Amino acid sequence: MYRLFLIAGLLMLFYFFLRRAFQKIKQETGLFTHQEGQTLGNQMVQDPVCRVFIPRENAVREEIGGQTYFFCSRGCATTFQKRLST
Ligand SMILES: [Zn+2]
Repeated sequence: MYRLFLIAGLLMLFYFFLRRAFQKIKQETGLFTHQEGQTLGNQMVQDPVCRVFIPRENAVREEIGGQTYFFCSRGCATTFQKRLST
């Protein structure tokens, strides 16, 4: 009887690891599939500098001239601002 619990526990642990791995893969592949800049559930935005797609919540948000832009990094945001000012 004790063994049965042990096996059940291990199976549950295995299941959780598998689920976490799947979620990670989903997130990672989500970065590379750009279907009009959107993926299911998670909205993707495009960096106007390096043209990379990033999940909206991970993007660097910058308001320039009343418009909101999203960047992959601070570096791209400053590049964009420099481009506008010149
Ligand atoms: Zn960028």
